[in-house]
Amino acid sequence: MTVKTFSQGVFLPHYKEFSEKKSITTIPLPKEVVIPLHQHTGAPCRALVKPGDEVKAGQRIGESDAFVSAYVHASVDGKVTAVEPRPYFTGTNVESVVIEVDAKQGKPAWQERDTSKLSIDEIRAAIKDAGIVGMGGAAFPTHVKLSPPKPIDAFIVNACECEPFLTCDHRMMLEMTDMLLEGARLAQKAVSAPKLIFGVETNKPDAIQALNSKIAGEAGVELVALDVKYPQGSEKQLIKAVLDREVPPGKLPFDVGVVVQNVATCIAVYEACRYGKPSIERVLTVTGDGAAKPQNVLVKMGTPIGHIIEQCGGFKGEAGKVIMGGPMTGWAQSRLDTSIVKGSSGILLFSPAMVAETEHKACVRCGKCVDHCPMFLYPNYISTYAETGRFDLADEWGAMDCFECGVCVYVCPSNRPIVQFVREAKKQIAAARAARN
Ligand code: SF4
Ligand code: SF4
Repeated sequence: MTVKTFSQGVFLPHYKEFSEKKSITTIPLPKEVVIPLHQHTGAPCRALVKPGDEVKAGQRIGESDAFVSAYVHASVDGKVTAVEPRPYFTGTNVESVVIEVDAKQGKPAWQERDTSKLSIDEIRAAIKDAGIVGMGGAAFPTHVKLSPPKPIDAFIVNACECEPFLTCDHRMMLEMTDMLLEGARLAQKAVSAPKLIFGVETNKPDAIQALNSKIAGEAGVELVALDVKYPQGSEKQLIKAVLDREVPPGKLPFDVGVVVQNVATCIAVYEACRYGKPSIERVLTVTGDGAAKPQNVLVKMGTPIGHIIEQCGGFKGEAGKVIMGGPMTGWAQSRLDTSIVKGSSGILLFSPAMVAETEHKACVRCGKCVDHCPMFLYPNYISTYAETGRFDLADEWGAMDCFECGVCVYVCPSNRPIVQFVREAKKQIAAARAARN
């Protein structure tokens, strides 16, 4: 088997053994869900409901007229108790619809239809109506991504799941193989791409076998095995590895004729097109050395992470840290009432030993971050300029091209929080650019 990859990056211990063999289970509903109206890239939604309203699972409760946005839906039957700012996983407060969950949930009225007859416009409309966004974490609206302004010749399914610990995509590949294939074909049709390619890391041999057995002999469809290297699942690195195409700085995959979607997003596309089902639930991984019972669970959007942790057996021993997402790109949580959104792929529970905190020191100019940065940036310069408030220089050194993969932080012997510095730089640079325009 030929195995491909990209240059730079890092080989990480993957820690998938905690949960990779655990089948997806459903946990009981919480008493309340909190659904942020801005959980995607683009314009926030305005609320379509008010306190006191009764809502049904799948009902649209937030929308925006902007092209780059995504509708939000009630994930449960219940009663709206508030529309107000609530804590969000990034540490800010976001306007949210709070729903008291009905003890008795009705049966959703999804209507099955023949997806083979759907036109490109109908596929895109179904995806837009369902409020689907990239579920790997980027949360970019999928109907926008599947309406590229340039011709596309390859649709790639990002089946790498390169973040350590996370296994939800892996389980979906094994347990929802046919749904994934049909969703991928629908997304491929939406962008009129002649080629469909699955990019899978070699630490998922059972998923490679499951997919290969389904696509064997099918013209225009192939599976590319990829080395287990981080960040193999980042779009630009994936495209380089799979097709040997470079996406230039400041450009997007469609500029080189490619669209990429991850596994969970393709399955959501399938459900939207086949049943008209909105994005109201997702599979995520609850894991880590501090998790009592690591597992992959199907949860409703808006479920508080504290409820999920409790239903998964809580902490094993003393709590060290809780992270929403993967260990490389996720967000540390200081409270457990933040809720699951469309881009939440995991909840990591770490023991105190795993997170041994160390103070960061000055850059010692070892150059390791430069050697490993998959975007060929100089994280040392960018972070130092950001730390000292020279955001103009951080901009000149390419801060905006950083996609916050965390590789530089992982290799830095001075334990510098480079991504935090870069995030601040990007915020300041964007504000300065907006003020100039
Ligand atoms: S500078 Fe950005 S892209 Fe480069 S390694 Fe650091 S986080 Fe990743
Ligand atoms: S890895 Fe850390 S110490 Fe080394 S050059 Fe980069 S920022 Fe400086």
